[in-house]
Amino acid sequence: MNANSQITIDANRLSLDQALQIRAPEVSQVEVLDLIKHFNEGVADLLLTDYDQRELRVTKDKIRRVLRCERNLVESQASKDKPTPAMVAGTLLDACFTLHASGGVLEDPTKDALLFLSTLGDGLDIDPDVEDLVRPKVEEGYAKLVAFWDADTIRDKFSLRLQDRIALSFCNTRLQLIGRPDVVLSGLDPNHEDVVIIDVKSGTPKIFDVEDARLYALMETLRSHRPPSLIGNYYLAIDRLELIVPSLQLLGDETSRTLGAIAKMVEIANTKSATATRSVELCQYCPINLTCAEVTEDDRLGWASTVVSIGFEDPIESVIGMQVGLDD
Ligand code: SF4
Repeated sequence: MNANSQITIDANRLSLDQALQIRAPEVSQVEVLDLIKHFNEGVADLLLTDYDQRELRVTKDKIRRVLRCERNLVESQASKDKPTPAMVAGTLLDACFTLHASGGVLEDPTKDALLFLSTLGDGLDIDPDVEDLVRPKVEEGYAKLVAFWDADTIRDKFSLRLQDRIALSFCNTRLQLIGRPDVVLSGLDPNHEDVVIIDVKSGTPKIFDVEDARLYALMETLRSHRPPSLIGNYYLAIDRLELIVPSLQLLGDETSRTLGAIAKMVEIANTKSATATRSVELCQYCPINLTCAEVTEDDRLGWASTVVSIGFEDPIESVIGMQVGLDD
């Protein structure tokens, strides 16, 4: 397998067990330590030279926004808009996944997920009509989740961390890099340290998902000094698991992307100004899209969106067949 290759896995053709047998190309400890040093030095340079405020919190959402449109980041943080039904359904399905993967059986996935979130202190303040609106979507997603994720078998074979909060501090906590992937899987053998990071998505594939997965790969590398063996997303709507093997080049590219985003956040904080840049991914949902001079009518309506190639390079059959000897 090419050291920089990505693979895509169709959940209908391959069990999660089989997918998890795939081994990432080795990245040496020296290469990993170099990458971590580069990231630490990059953050220190930005904070020491340019940033005069106490703390900067960096998340995947802020990174994706600031790299596309600085103004969108600023406006979205100021906005108190209620979440859209699609966002509510996504949050509830995340909660359903955590409950199901922990061995729970959900009688009413929507109500059970809402209750679970409120016990965590993350309750959703939604109207009854929104709850009714999202219920069929949540039930459909939950049924697919149960079919795909064999909770008992997976818990017998793997060690699971669900909603695994990763919080990394740099420069005496002046910068916090924060993420929470849905599941981090590892083998039960304590000598086998490889982990697999998967997010569960209620929608269809988006370019953001690949970016988020890459960020998690970098964060896991910074946290444990070892890259995950696989990263990816499971799409409930199309019953598809897409996985990427994080190569050294991918981790290097993600280091540059994340440092670039932090540099923009520092610049916004210092200059108190943020440039508006049209973005087919962001304009449709931007809180100021009725007044922004950059946006077009097609952007507002979501008609400007182009189909983004997610770009998985290698045919699944060759990669998986070669690695785990599966019959087609
Ligand atoms: S409407 Fe589009 S261009 Fe204008 S601030 Fe929002 S995301 Fe940026």
